Amino acid sequence: MLPYGRQSISNEDIQAVVKVLESDFLTQGPAVPAFEAAVAKKVNARFAVAANSATSALHMACLALGLGPGQSLWTSPISFVASANCARLCGANADFVDIDPETFCMDTQALADKLHRHKTQGLTMPSVVVPVHLAGQSCDMAGIHALSQQYGFKVLEDASHAIGASYNNEPVGNTRFSDVCVFSFHPVKIITTGEGGLATTNSEELAQRMARLRTHGITREPKDMTEASHGPWYYQMLELGLNYRLTDLQAALGLSQLQRLGEFIQVRRDQVKTYHDAFSGYPDVMPQSLPSYALSSHHLFIVKVPAAQHSHVFSALRHDGIGVNLHYIPIHLQPYYQALGFKKGDFPQAEGYYQQAISLPLFPGLSLNNQEHVVSSLLRALRH
Ligand SMILES: *Cc1c(COP(=O)(O)O)cnc(C)c1O
Repeated sequence: MLPYGRQSISNEDIQAVVKVLESDFLTQGPAVPAFEAAVAKKVNARFAVAANSATSALHMACLALGLGPGQSLWTSPISFVASANCARLCGANADFVDIDPETFCMDTQALADKLHRHKTQGLTMPSVVVPVHLAGQSCDMAGIHALSQQYGFKVLEDASHAIGASYNNEPVGNTRFSDVCVFSFHPVKIITTGEGGLATTNSEELAQRMARLRTHGITREPKDMTEASHGPWYYQMLELGLNYRLTDLQAALGLSQLQRLGEFIQVRRDQVKTYHDAFSGYPDVMPQSLPSYALSSHHLFIVKVPAAQHSHVFSALRHDGIGVNLHYIPIHLQPYYQALGFKKGDFPQAEGYYQQAISLPLFPGLSLNNQEHVVSSLLRALRH
C-alpha cells in the first residue's frame, strides 16, 4: 500500500543518532538545546522549547498561557483532536470556529462573527485561540492577531504541519502574530524526531515557564527559588509539571533532518504542481486553495470530490493500493466532544468538508510514476 506520507531517513540522520548512543547523554545532554537553537534560528524566533510531542507542547503552552478551569479555548473543528484536547487537559472548555470551504483553515470572518456574538450575548469569550495551519497553509494570522488585540485573547498557532512554511514572506514560527507556535515531528510530518514537538515564542517568560513545566515544574535557578539554596543538590518544585522531555537521540535526528528541510519542501512543492497540473481540467477534483499571502510547507495534498462519490472514490483508491486518508473527522463529532454537548450541524462548513475531503499521497520518495498511478486511479473512480 502506497502510504499518504512517510519519513525520509538519510545515512547522515542514522550517524547523528548513533553518535548520541555512543556519547555520555541519551537525554538532558547537549543535543536538545542545539536542536532548539537551530529551530529558533530557522524560524526566526527568540526561544524554542522542545517536547516529546506536539500534543505535549500544546499542553505546556496552554498551561504557560494561564489557561485553566472556567476559561475557553477556540480552535478549528478540522484538525487533529490534540488542538482541542490541550484545553481539556488544563480543565478549560474547548469550542470551535468553522472553516473556510476553500482554504480549509479557520475562517477569520466566522471567528469575528462568533467573537461579536459572544460579546454581545455575554457568553464565554476565548482566553486562547488556536489557528491550525492545515496541510502547511498558514491561516490569516494578521486578521486573527487584530481580533486578539480587539478582544484580548492569546494566540497559539498549531503549526504541526507547517515547519518550513511562510506567511507574508516570513517563516511560520516567528510568532509575529501569536504568543506561541507549536510544531510536530511525528514521522508523517515535514521533518521527524520519531515522536517529538517544539514550541517557539518571543517571550522569555513564556519560554522559561514552558521549560519548567516540561520538567515537573522544577527549577534549579537560585533566582527563582523561595529560599537560599541548601547546596549543590538542591532544586525546588514551584508548580505542578510533567515529564515532557525530548531525548538527545531524538534531538540529534531532528537537527540532522532540519538540514534537509528546504530540500523536503522543494520536493513536496514539485509534487503538488504535478497534482495541480493533472487535475486542472477536472472541476470534480477541487484541491485546497492556497492564497498567495502564504507559502505552504505542503504536509498534505487534500482534494475535495463530490460528496455523492466520496466514499466510492475513497474505497476505489484504497482498492488500487493507494493509502488515501481523511484529515480530519470534525473534532466536535467525536463521541467525547458530543458528550460535552456538541452536535451534528454545529459547524456546517467543517461537516461539508468531511463529506468531500481526501488526502492523496505526498512525501519525499513518492515517484512520478506513483503520482500518475494516483491521478489515473482517482479520475477512473470518478467516472464510475
Ligand atoms: C500531528 C498533529 C498534532 C499532534 O502532534 P504529535 O506530535 O503527534 O503529538 C497536533 N495537531 C495537528 C494539527 C497535528 O497534525
